[in-house]
Amino acid sequence: MNSYAPQITPRPSAATSALRLLSPQEVLRDALARYHGRIALVWSFGSESAVLLHMISRIDPATPVLFLDTGQLVAQSLDYRRNLVARLGLTDVRDLRPAYADLAVTDPRGDLWKTNTDACCHIRKVLPLDVALEGFDAWITGRKRFHGGDRLRLAVEERTPSHVKFNPLANWAKEDLDAYVAEHDLPPHPLVEFGYASVGCWPCTQPVEEGQDVRAGRWAGQDKTECGIHVTRATPGADADLGDGL
Ligand code: SF4
Repeated sequence: MNSYAPQITPRPSAATSALRLLSPQEVLRDALARYHGRIALVWSFGSESAVLLHMISRIDPATPVLFLDTGQLVAQSLDYRRNLVARLGLTDVRDLRPAYADLAVTDPRGDLWKTNTDACCHIRKVLPLDVALEGFDAWITGRKRFHGGDRLRLAVEERTPSHVKFNPLANWAKEDLDAYVAEHDLPPHPLVEFGYASVGCWPCTQPVEEGQDVRAGRWAGQDKTECGIHVTRATPGADADLGDGL
């Protein structure tokens, strides 16, 4: 079995399903209050990331933001990150990078993505995030159901053996995001105008055709649809919450 393959996909708890009735901002305020000082927003990039970052900046700009810099991001993403952080006034953005030892041993030439994308994502995304999240009890993601695939049953709040995860935008449609962007005049990712509906690392991101899933350009031509940071790995002695699956 591929050691990087998903083993458990947790479902949400019934006790928290009421969150789906709240607006994203209400979910964020609730999460930040309940986990004050123990919660971070994870910015793993994406063409729509400005929306959630803007919401956080309005509620508490000192919220820790964990930025996953895989070392394979497109240059436009790094420029966009710099400009967005400055514009929104976010004061605690932390760059997560792959460990030098992992790169030296597993991906010394920086081309592991050609032969094993799961292993590449593991050392460049999953492991750095695991280390960073040791300091937190909860984290916030920008995932949405309309992105399709495994995200179609996404809950607003999820529980894993180690953390609580909040997905404030789970219920939003593309139209909601577009309206928010227009209302607040948020800058789009520079690659959106070239057909990149979802932006990740340069080797694994392509533009999408009209009508395709937003994430169809990620790992195009492979079975892979997720990088692994949203997969709960089995923890000995810990059970995944199987909840009500909203
Ligand atoms: S998205 Fe591609 S380049 Fe980026 S970490 Fe995963 S496999 Fe490697």
